[in-house]
Amino acid sequence: MSDKPELLVVWPMRARQMDELASRYELLRYDEAEDKPGFLTAQCGRVTAALTNGSWGGMSREMLQHLPALRLVASSGVGYDSIDVAACTEAGVTVTNTPGVLDDDVADLAIVLMVSARRGLMQAHEHIRSGTWAQEGPRPLGSRSAGKRLGIAGYGRIGQAIARRAEAMSMEIAYYARSERPDSAHRFEPDLLRLAEWCDVLVLALPGGAGTRGVVDGDVIRAIGPHGTLVNIARGSVVDETALIEALEQGALGSAGLDVFSSEPNVDDRLRALQNVALTPHVGSATVETRSDMAQLVVDNIRAFFEGRRPVTPVN
Ligand code: NAP
Repeated sequence: MSDKPELLVVWPMRARQMDELASRYELLRYDEAEDKPGFLTAQCGRVTAALTNGSWGGMSREMLQHLPALRLVASSGVGYDSIDVAACTEAGVTVTNTPGVLDDDVADLAIVLMVSARRGLMQAHEHIRSGTWAQEGPRPLGSRSAGKRLGIAGYGRIGQAIARRAEAMSMEIAYYARSERPDSAHRFEPDLLRLAEWCDVLVLALPGGAGTRGVVDGDVIRAIGPHGTLVNIARGSVVDETALIEALEQGALGSAGLDVFSSEPNVDDRLRALQNVALTPHVGSATVETRSDMAQLVVDNIRAFFEGRRPVTPVN
């Protein structure tokens, strides 16, 4: 039997960091187990640390009940809505995430989705690839983004990185959150519906979870309007997706740029069939550079835990 400490792998990271972890720890590969409940019961009674992902792997209250010795959940990703943080806190388990290192990539994608949705760039790309340009001629005109009004719902690290990019596009910016940032040059709007009525583009950079579930409802979506755009790089759960699809189908909302969906990876057929959308498969942080930085932060948190130091980026 190995004398290395055990690490439960609920959701893995990139190969290089998994190799580094494997050199230090005995990896218990729950992610690869066929009988997952049986694996937890048989192998994980003494495990003190777990590696997971805040979007997909998570850590539920039920899983915690099978892990009585657990003291650390090290998660990759800044969002942690799939982790039951309250249950972890009750059980004396520290949760860590990876804030800050992914802001630029996610903000870049938000701008790309905004421009792509408003100008139909994904459809234009397909127009060339499918060979229809020569038969059907030019594509319909799109809508400008520069100089327009941008509402940012969720004005934290990523929301502010989006604002910096939008400033360079001469966009007029206002933001929604629970609390005002007195140091900000942008206007605070405490009412999400009023922000939607005011803006041409509403970008969502809120956390997921119970506090924001469905806050972008049919009223908010329709308030953005037939010439407006909704961009969601936050979480699918923040938006009433049925209301969004209806508004896009009926032209009550002009367009949408979406990186996140209510039921990933199974995106609603009606959404996939629409022409006034730009869709990406939850790739906000998916660059080699950012995923390496995220994975390194996870490794640093796990090492700090096993060496008796304070975690680098604790959530609770
Ligand atoms: P952050 O720095 O914590 O910012 C969150 C913002 O949302 C803050 O302005 C916060 O302000 C506001 N907020 C939180 N709860 C709220 C509520 N119930 N109602 C209204 N406003 C609320 O987080 P971040 O690092 O910018 O990340 C934001 C989110 O982006 C993540 O949680 C994740 O879901 C998503 N994300 C997506 C991807 C992707 O691949 N697409 C990648 C990374 C992150 P107040 O506290 O004042 O309300």
